[in-house]
Amino acid sequence: MTECLFCKIVAGELPSERVAENDAAYAFKDINPHAPVHVLVVPKVHIATAAHVAPEQADIVGQMILLAQEVADVTGVADSGYRLIMNVGEDAWMSVPHLHLHVLGGQRLAGHLG
Ligand code: 5GP
Ligand code: ZN
Repeated sequence: MTECLFCKIVAGELPSERVAENDAAYAFKDINPHAPVHVLVVPKVHIATAAHVAPEQADIVGQMILLAQEVADVTGVADSGYRLIMNVGEDAWMSVPHLHLHVLGGQRLAGHLG
């Protein structure tokens, strides 16, 4: 059995607040939101980080972007704008080693990235 937190969430072994999903990806609310809208989009298969995406998995990342568009629609931020963030590794403070895209919005976000 997997020890990966987000694999367990995808499998329904741990609870999550579902926002949307497609064949390749699942979107759920972040447990510790940094903005009024803070949703995580994860691939349904385990991929550790963006640095581990294999060429044959590129379509999965595309499906994650498409799902993020749907998340923006259903959470009402598609027109106001939102930020997509994918942390990789220690310096970016990645804390869960299962690829995930943060969808942040619902307020005017900080005007800098670092
Ligand atoms: P990272 O820092 O790795 O880019 O983002 C990991 C995110 O996962 C954090 O924003 C954190 O709040 C969220 N997170 C960690 N554990 C859980 C959990 O059990 N459920 C949910 N919904 N989010 C989680
Ligand atoms: Zn995983």
